[in-house]
Amino acid sequence: MQLIDAYYLSARSVYLEDKIKKNAFILVKNGKIAGIHDQPQIDIRILELGNYKVLPGLIDLHIHGRDGCDVMDAKMSSLETISSSLARYGIVGFLATTVTSSWEKSLAAFSVIGEAAGKQMPGAQVLGAYNEGLFFSNEHKGAHNEQFFLTLTKERIDQIVSASNGSLKVLAMAPEVDGAADLIPYLKSLGVRVMLGHTNANWAQTCCALDAGASGGVHVFNGMSGIHHRDPGCAGAVLLNDDAFVEVIADGVHLHPAILRMIYRLKDSKKITLISDCINAGGLNDGIYRLGELDVKVEQGVARTLKGSLAGSTLTLNRAIENFVNLAGISEVDAINMASLVPAKFLGLADSLGSIAVNKRACFAIADETGDVQATILDGNLVFSKSETISAFF
Ligand SMILES: [Zn+2]
Repeated sequence: MQLIDAYYLSARSVYLEDKIKKNAFILVKNGKIAGIHDQPQIDIRILELGNYKVLPGLIDLHIHGRDGCDVMDAKMSSLETISSSLARYGIVGFLATTVTSSWEKSLAAFSVIGEAAGKQMPGAQVLGAYNEGLFFSNEHKGAHNEQFFLTLTKERIDQIVSASNGSLKVLAMAPEVDGAADLIPYLKSLGVRVMLGHTNANWAQTCCALDAGASGGVHVFNGMSGIHHRDPGCAGAVLLNDDAFVEVIADGVHLHPAILRMIYRLKDSKKITLISDCINAGGLNDGIYRLGELDVKVEQGVARTLKGSLAGSTLTLNRAIENFVNLAGISEVDAINMASLVPAKFLGLADSLGSIAVNKRACFAIADETGDVQATILDGNLVFSKSETISAFF
């Protein structure tokens, strides 16, 4: 792939963080966005995108696998496959997410994620590790095998952080597990965000964990105590806390459209992160797959354990955006932000990633009118294209 120093992207619709800019020219220089103009300012090559929409490169904070590969394979080749596969859907960065397994397998997976986070990947970049596993409650275990659940200790946290070579960004836990109250501030001091999930915690327990420094809720409503009028549960607590982020799986199956509307009314777009929670079956046909230590059956794209619990998804973020817009009746700009700017802010990367703005990295998802991603650009370079015109330009 040839590195082009400077060029314009010209399109009818460019999705900025607060509006859709019509007929814009984005100046890309040395991998960064150097200007957004109504007319070209200098005489350089222009990639004409016509009716294609230019979105910011998307960020998936919670993804387990794709195309038959799983983060738990603990193999660089698996992470590379996932990286390339995600680029086909406009994703430029992701947190490689584990699932409950043996302690040894978990550490092996963290160590490969740590390696991947420090190197150039073929498509979407590994922005860090997300530990979803090990420290959960049996009542809402979902697709996590409780045989492998462990007590949360400072030593175990230190071992995960060290195995991941410091790339651990999120640790999910049930706030009612022993030690949570003391270890949440400790994780925060290490720069690791705590997300609450796979939990039977009540309102008060969840509020305590949020007060102690937890950042929000893992796939809100799924795998947690829901809202009862005498106990608003974990879902109620993370939704009503203004600072808490909530992950949302907008596949039309995990959450009813009315619940999507309710989440949006309570949080607006600023604290919602669209996640895929995609498993290794993503991109493949229906069938039997393995998620961590459990078999999972995928029918019509919906993944469930053999006992019937939803087990991740086969969703991609470009479709999550479209679903949220259609099911909850919100604006495209808001839905796109939930899959780009909000995750970038969550990770503390919004200075350089997450939206189309001057001085940020030139990362774009280029989609047609149906939301189908035609090309993905990372730091000014093409990492995926199914358009001959776009490929030829690079
Ligand atoms: Zn998950």
